[in-house]
Amino acid sequence: METKKKDIRALTKEQLRDFFIKEGDQAFRGNQVYEWLWSKGAHTFEDMTNISKETRYMLEDHFVINHIHVDTMQKSNDGTIKNAVRLHDGLIVESVLIPTKSRTTACVSSQVGCSLDCRFCATSRLKRMRNLNPDEIFDQVVAIDRESRLYHDRPLSNIVFMGMGEPLMNYNNVLKAIDKITSDEGLGMSPKRIVVSTSGVPKMIKKMADDEVKFKLAVSLHSAIDAVRTSIMPFNENFPLADLREALEYWYAKTKNRITYEYVVWKDINDKKKDVDALIAFCKFAPSKVNLIEYNPIDDGEFQQANSQAIDMYVSMLEANHITVTVRRSRGKDIDAACGQLANKS
Ligand code: SAH
Repeated sequence: METKKKDIRALTKEQLRDFFIKEGDQAFRGNQVYEWLWSKGAHTFEDMTNISKETRYMLEDHFVINHIHVDTMQKSNDGTIKNAVRLHDGLIVESVLIPTKSRTTACVSSQVGCSLDCRFCATSRLKRMRNLNPDEIFDQVVAIDRESRLYHDRPLSNIVFMGMGEPLMNYNNVLKAIDKITSDEGLGMSPKRIVVSTSGVPKMIKKMADDEVKFKLAVSLHSAIDAVRTSIMPFNENFPLADLREALEYWYAKTKNRITYEYVVWKDINDKKKDVDALIAFCKFAPSKVNLIEYNPIDDGEFQQANSQAIDMYVSMLEANHITVTVRRSRGKDIDAACGQLANKS
């Protein structure tokens, strides 16, 4: 029986250097191969032209390169592109390219499916199958960067972890992917241009603060009243707002980074003055920004976007309390690429 080959990109540079020493070669061979894998994006060992044939065969005996494959690419009439990405084991995730006048943003997935149960989100209907590996997250970014250069004549400028899955429930791999994305050996992007969006896992928010991460944090709040939040995001029962708030205070004390809240206003759910009052009270402890996101219907019509008077009330009350607020329009709705719509319809 053939022993299972290892994913070579699961190895650190040190491990790769050690591997070559063990094989009787020299450590710097590890650097060369590492460069092929990460900066040069080699899909096969064959591609590694400055490595001898024997060494390439030897690598093939031990390892595989589990590259993602963009199965289908859909283009929206607003320029948004959605990739259905096939992983080495046949599972599919989605990632999205979102162009605006000044930037191109990649929205990437961190898990296949999701273990959370946000009732307004299409991804929650797929059960969590597995976490993505660091290289699978990295590859999604590289694919979007390539598409950005090809279709929009400029490189990718920003990344948001707002695709499928809960990034803080795959924290180690997300962190490793971001290390690669930001390192000169990878894409050399600034961590300030990366946002990790979480539904709010208090323990992991504290861990991020302890790890002194340099990327930005966004929290999908949607309600600052426990009973309401639990009714739309049932895991809030286990991670109540008081715990979330305590973790965010810890985050702010350590990082001094402003916190962004994502927030959808729904008719008859959170469109009253008391909802805004609670939000203002919740985010007062640190400089905050509230992104009011447009709701993207996901089928049964149980949730409906609130009317514009409700949105206006949010904006004026937040502004009166010196909380930055933006109203964000969705992109790519015609191809089911907007927030909460990623669910592998293909
Ligand atoms: N699990 C992470 C990241 C994925 S969701 C998180 O919860 O933050 C990315 C954003 O889309 C979140 O703010 C989420 O609340 C929002 N979202 C989910 N479904 C939506 C929908 N149908 N319409 C608009 N936004 C939605």
